[in-house]
Amino acid sequence: MAGDLETEILVVGGGPAGLILTARLTAMGRSVICVERAPPPADPEDPAADLRTTAFLRPSVETLRRAGVWEALAPLAAPLRIMRIVQRAPDAGKPPRVSADFTPPEEEAGGPFGSNIPNAALRLALTRVLAERPGARLLAPMTLEHWIARFDGVRARLSDGRTLRARLLVAADGRESEIRRAAGIGVRRVDYEQKALVAALAHEGPHGYASSEIHSSGGPLTFTPLRDPLRSGLVWMTPNLKAARLMALSPEAFEAELQAEAEAADLALGRIRLLTRRAAWPIVGQLAERLQAPRLALIAEAAHVVPPIGAQGMNMSLRDVEVLAEELEKAPDPGAPSVLEAYERRRLPDLRLRGLGVGLLNRAAKSESRAIRDLRAFGLAAIRDLTPLRRTAVRLGLGEGG
Ligand SMILES: Cc1cc2nc3c(=O)[nH]c(=O)nc-3n(C[C@H](O)[C@H](O)[C@H](O)COP(=O)(O)OP(=O)(O)OC[C@H]3O[C@@H](n4cnc5c(N)ncnc54)[C@H](O)[C@@H]3O)c2cc1C
Repeated sequence: MAGDLETEILVVGGGPAGLILTARLTAMGRSVICVERAPPPADPEDPAADLRTTAFLRPSVETLRRAGVWEALAPLAAPLRIMRIVQRAPDAGKPPRVSADFTPPEEEAGGPFGSNIPNAALRLALTRVLAERPGARLLAPMTLEHWIARFDGVRARLSDGRTLRARLLVAADGRESEIRRAAGIGVRRVDYEQKALVAALAHEGPHGYASSEIHSSGGPLTFTPLRDPLRSGLVWMTPNLKAARLMALSPEAFEAELQAEAEAADLALGRIRLLTRRAAWPIVGQLAERLQAPRLALIAEAAHVVPPIGAQGMNMSLRDVEVLAEELEKAPDPGAPSVLEAYERRRLPDLRLRGLGVGLLNRAAKSESRAIRDLRAFGLAAIRDLTPLRRTAVRLGLGEGG
C-alpha cells in the first residue's frame, strides 16, 4: 500500500482553522488533503457540539471571501454593529460606573465590525463547501499516526493504514498539537487559572447586534449576538473556583446569577434563559517557539492560544492562513524553506505582540484590586470620550494595526 495518497499540501486538523486553510488554498488551485480525527459534524443542534461562537472581524471576513466560503457562511452570521464595554459597579444595586459603545470607524459607517457565527454551524457549512471543491479532500474520521520530513516532502501514515506523500505538512491540530511535539518545537505557556463558561441563551429583549462585555472582577462576561435578535452566545470568564460553583448550579440558579449580572450592567435583555448545556474551557496563553521546521508549518492553536478576550484567537489564526496563502502564491514548491521562513518572519512578531497584549488585558480584567478597577473605568472613559484614542482602539481591536 506504499504511497497510497499524494497531494501538494497535507493539513492535519479539521477544526475551523484547518478547514478554512483548506478552502483558501484550494481556491488558489492547490491540491489539499485535510485529515480530521473526529467524524464530520452532523447537526449543529447536537448536544455534544462545540457551543462556542466565533466573531470574525473584518480582515478575517476578507479571508473567508478569498477562500470562497463567505457565501455559504453569510446566512449563518450575525453582524456585529456595536462593541459595548461596561465597567460594573463593585456593589450590586449600584448603577454601572462606565459604559461605552464603540461603532465602526466613521468612514465605514454602516458596515459591521465583523460577523459572529456559531462554531458548530461553521464547521458543518465549511465541510459541505469542501465536499464539492475541486482539489480538496477531507478525510474524517481519520488520524495522522506518524510522519517524517524528507528533503522533498513528508511521508505520513494514516489510521486506516494508508500512506500519504505531500510537499508540505500544516499542523492545524489544536493546542495540544502532537505534530508540534514530534517536531521538537517547544511552547511558552501561562495558565491563568480561569475558565470560560460558554452556552447559548435566549432573552426577551433584542440584543441590537451588540457584543456586550461586562467587567467587574475575576474576568469579563460577554454576550455575543446570534442571528436571531433574541438569542446570544455567552462567554463568562471567571477564576477556577467560581467556575466550578457556577457549573454545579442548577440551570435555574445559573440563569438567576446571569440575570443579576446583566441587570447590574443595564443590558436591556429582559428575562434570560439557557438554551443549551454549559461547557467550561480552561484559559491559557501559549506561543510556540517556532512556526516552522523542515516541510512543516504550524498555524492557529497549534501555534498560539490567547484568552478569549476581544475576539482575537481565531482572527489571529485567519491571519496565519492569509499570510501562508500569500507566501504559497509565489512558490512552485509549497514546502520550500524560503516559503516557511517568510511565513514565520511575517507572523511571529505580531503573534508575540498580540499574545502579550491580550494577556495583559486579561490580567487587568481579572484583577480584584480596587485601584485597577478604577483605572479600568478611567481608561474606558478616556477611550470613549477622545475621538483619536477611540479610533485607534477600534482599529487595533479589528486587527488592522494602529
Ligand atoms: C470560550 C472561547 C471563546 C472563543 N471565542 C472566540 C471569538 O469570538 N473569536 C475568535 O477569533 N476566537 C475565539 N476563540 C478562539 C477560537 O475558538 C479558537 O482559536 C479556535 O476554535 C481554534 O481552532 P483550531 O482549528 O486552531 O483548533 P481546534 O478547533 O482545536 O481544531 C483542531 C482539530 O485537530 C484535530 N486533530 C488533532 N490531532 C489530530 C491528528 N493527529 N489527526 C487528525 N486530526 C487531529 C482535532 O480533532 C480538532 O478537530 C474562543 C476560544 C474559547 C475557548
